[in-house]
Amino acid sequence: MIQETIHKAFNKFAQELEQPFQLKGIFFDMDGVLFNSMPLHAKSWIQTFKEFGLTLPEPEPYMNEGSTAFYTVRKMFKKYLNKEANDEVCEQIKNRKHEIMGKMPKAEVMVHMQKFVAEVASKNIDCWVVTGSAQEILISRLMKEYDFAFERNNMITAHDVKIGKPNPEPYLNAMKKSGYSTSNAFVIENAPLGVESAKAAGLFTIAINTGPIDPSHLKKAGADLVLDGSKELLECFPILLTNTSIVK
Ligand code: CA
Repeated sequence: MIQETIHKAFNKFAQELEQPFQLKGIFFDMDGVLFNSMPLHAKSWIQTFKEFGLTLPEPEPYMNEGSTAFYTVRKMFKKYLNKEANDEVCEQIKNRKHEIMGKMPKAEVMVHMQKFVAEVASKNIDCWVVTGSAQEILISRLMKEYDFAFERNNMITAHDVKIGKPNPEPYLNAMKKSGYSTSNAFVIENAPLGVESAKAAGLFTIAINTGPIDPSHLKKAGADLVLDGSKELLECFPILLTNTSIVK
């Protein structure tokens, strides 16, 4: 069943592209894909907004995940308080969230992902990180926990983008930096806005649902393939490979 689904998704993409998929690299999102950091972000957002008079429902941080702090603050103010958040308020909330997040325990490595990334690297497929995060601690940990796969040069972080997800900018920057076209790389994302960003850049996008949101949100955001989580991703790796040729 899943075999058929994956095959269909790649075929459809290759048809639209009018050329076969020739894989050189994978663009990984970081929060919620390589690290199970989203529950910590969600808690931090909920506490921060509470201090600013807004009760944030639990799924919201996951629905806004991947975007910049300013984007989230503006959207939530409009949605729940029906008012505009000015730059000053955005900055205050951003800093407070950062402060609370800094006191949270260390994020765990996402289960099964070290094994998945190791298998990818063993096939000579390049591993890239495309994240809206500016958290130096997590980026440094990435170099430690996944030291067999990621290099500092193969990264797009918050420092490399102006707009951020859901705009295609981060993925377009990753394509520019890597020299890959849309037939050379696919994306692994976990959040609707991340999927939107990757799809707007024209990339084949696999969504892994590692959080509490309904998978229909990932499909609706445009994901070519929605998988249950990191376990299913690892299990499906051989099938993914049979649908692509690896090119160096
Ligand atoms: Ca994410």
